[in-house]
Amino acid sequence: MQYDSLTGLLTFEDFLSQAGAAICDKSKAYMIVAADITDFHFININYGYDKGDEVLCGVSEFIRIYLPNMLFACRSHSDHFIALVCIQSFEYERIMNEVQRLKERLKEIIAGLAAGVSPNINVGLYFVEKDELNIVAAVDKANVARRTSKGNYNIPCVVYSEHLMDIKENSAKILPIFDDSFRKESIRVYLQPKISSETKKIIGAEALSRLVDDAGNIIPPVKFIAALEKTGKIVELDFYVLSFICKLIRKWIDKGIEPITISFNLSRMHFYSPTLVEDIIKLAEEYNVPPQYIEIEVTESVFFEAQEMIVKKVEELREYGFKVSVDDFGSGYSSLSLIGVLPVDVVKLDKSFVRESLKSPRSGDLMKGLIRILNEIHLEIVCEGVETAEEEKMINEYGCDEVQGYLYDKPIPTDEFESKYIKA
Ligand code: C2E
Ligand code: CA
Ligand code: CA
Repeated sequence: MQYDSLTGLLTFEDFLSQAGAAICDKSKAYMIVAADITDFHFININYGYDKGDEVLCGVSEFIRIYLPNMLFACRSHSDHFIALVCIQSFEYERIMNEVQRLKERLKEIIAGLAAGVSPNINVGLYFVEKDELNIVAAVDKANVARRTSKGNYNIPCVVYSEHLMDIKENSAKILPIFDDSFRKESIRVYLQPKISSETKKIIGAEALSRLVDDAGNIIPPVKFIAALEKTGKIVELDFYVLSFICKLIRKWIDKGIEPITISFNLSRMHFYSPTLVEDIIKLAEEYNVPPQYIEIEVTESVFFEAQEMIVKKVEELREYGFKVSVDDFGSGYSSLSLIGVLPVDVVKLDKSFVRESLKSPRSGDLMKGLIRILNEIHLEIVCEGVETAEEEKMINEYGCDEVQGYLYDKPIPTDEFESKYIKA
């Protein structure tokens, strides 16, 4: 057998041949586990490659010692690990709990090796079906599940199902449309206003992108963001949106119009780039746009990973004068202690918060308390997804005045937005 020189696990080729032979023995049941470390690049970039290697060896050691009933394991490449495990039966609950426990333990080990890093471990599982004889296809399915688990902090891992394959097929359709639109600069940027309940005046807007297919149909983000994130192309999209809004603000300033602040979404993928801060500043300078007119939305879950590095970059962006908001707050794994360390100007409360608060008094109390605390520490608060007057009244009573939601407007094309909200 051949071994990976760094970790001592099998090489990928040897894993395929050993595991491939094993799954043909149908007297036993098997599971394929695929795992990787979120933002492993952070460790390499910020702690050096030797530390990165140490972490990879730590993970390999962990797999060898702690992964129960592991038959074969390999590092397929970079920080991606695959193992074949023998299982007695498929008990979903038990397996989820076990994965959760193992992940916690592994995170502690990594934090011990690289201080200040507590990365998420993405895990995908595939329960090898009785008629499955093709190990490559089986590994592929575990990887589809692993990729789907990225950014999902509410569950320990994702188990492969046919439905996940649809996402993969969708990527094959979406990517050429994106590449084409990017080249032709025909990506649409819609704007949704943020309104003050008290004055009914516009206080800002969020830029949200749309693709258009050959037949002229608008493709919403839910159909393309995941595919762009998986391929890293989301970085191109976000910079496209940023240059679009810089141009727009420049145009307003040149016409003598006082601009509003426009926010754009910065995907988690950007934090891989060591030149992120310079790149954003460069664009704003190219269009000579004062930074206070640009707001950067970073989704809540990003702050759970490699916090120190992200906090540092966010601080640099704010020092230059950009506004920074934490997006989708309350959608996943929020904790009050997080607010204490987040160097942000704005907290955007997720739409699920608004929805839940009207349904249950307990959630309502929670939201009220949260808004009170955010006000006390002088953070700006925006409630997203406000659809009814009743919802608006509730959040106003809780102490939040800023609203982004269908109650006032949907995201609309820029020219429509300008004629409605921007007075020349
Ligand atoms: P998000 O950043 O949370 O943006 C707000 C989403 O909520 C938008 O969906 C908006 O249309 C929707 N929304 C606003 N008000 C309401 C309401 O009252 N009710 C309901 N049900 N929904 C409301 P959209 O435009 O479909 O975008 C979905 C997500 O896709 C965004 O969520 C954002 O995470 C992502 N996204 C969109 N454009 C970009 C982009 O250019 N770059 C990146 N990285 N992500 C983007
Ligand atoms: Ca957003
Ligand atoms: Ca949001």
